Amino acid sequence: MLEVDKIDVSYGEVPALRQVSLRVEKGTIVSIAGANGAGKSTLLKTIVGYLTPRSGVVRLNGETISGLPAYQIARKRIALVPEGRGLFSDMTVEENLALGAYSVPDRGVIAKRRAWVYELFPRLSERSAQVSGTLSGGEQQLLAIGRGLMSGPEILMLDEPSLGVMPSFVDRIFEVLGEIRKSGTTILLVEQNVDRSLRMADYAYILQTGEVVLEGKGEALLKNDMVRHAFLGLA
Ligand code: ATP
Repeated sequence: MLEVDKIDVSYGEVPALRQVSLRVEKGTIVSIAGANGAGKSTLLKTIVGYLTPRSGVVRLNGETISGLPAYQIARKRIALVPEGRGLFSDMTVEENLALGAYSVPDRGVIAKRRAWVYELFPRLSERSAQVSGTLSGGEQQLLAIGRGLMSGPEILMLDEPSLGVMPSFVDRIFEVLGEIRKSGTTILLVEQNVDRSLRMADYAYILQTGEVVLEGKGEALLKNDMVRHAFLGLA
C-alpha cells in the first residue's frame, strides 16, 4: 500500500503541493484529476523520488521512501509511465521493452512478461522490429505502458496516458488498465479524461492549485456538482 502523508513540495520558493495526502490500496485503481498546473505531475515525480518533499512523507508498505534516491525507489517496484512517454526513439519496440526490464535478472521472467505485453497489445507484437520513433503517437503510448510493465511493478503510475491518442486507442488503454488491475498490479492514474478515469477508478482525488479539495469513490465524484461543472462541462 502506498501512502502520501501531508507532503509539501516546492520548486525553489514556489509551492506546488500543500499538505497533500492520499492512500492507494493494493490492487485498486486510484485516479487523480485536476486542471493544468494543479500539481498532478509534481505528485507522481515526488513519489518516484525525482523531487523531495519539504515536509511530510511517502510510505510504501509502511516503509518511508521519500528522501531515497529515485534509483532505489525504482527497485521497490514502483514504475512511472511519464507524460511524453520517454521512449528511446532510435530503438525498436523490442529493445525499448527490454530496457524496461533492465533490473530483472531472470530471462525466463523477462520472456514471460514480454509475451504478456504482446498479448495485451498485439499491435506492438506486429511492430516489434520497428524503430519506436516511427510509431504513431497512440502506438508509442502503448509501448510506454508496455515498457512500464516489463519491470514487474507492484504499483504502476501513469501520467496522462490518453493525451494526444486517438479514440480507438484510448478505449484499448482503458481496457488494458482494467486487465492490469485484474493481474494484481495497483494503478495510480493521472488523466485529463476525467469522465473515463473516474468511471474506472476505485477511489479518486481532485487536486486544485496544489491541494486536495475533494476525494471519494470514482462513481460518487462523477455525481459531484463541482466535478460535473469543472471537469465534465455539465451544468
Ligand atoms: P498539467 O496537467 O498541465 O501537466 P499538472 O497538474 O501536472 O499540470 P504540475 O506539472 O505538477 O501540474 O505543475 C504544478 C505547478 O508547478 C505549476 O504551477 C507549474 O508551473 C509548476 N512547475 C512544474 N514544474 C516546475 C519546474 N520544473 N520549475 C518550476 N515550476 C514548476
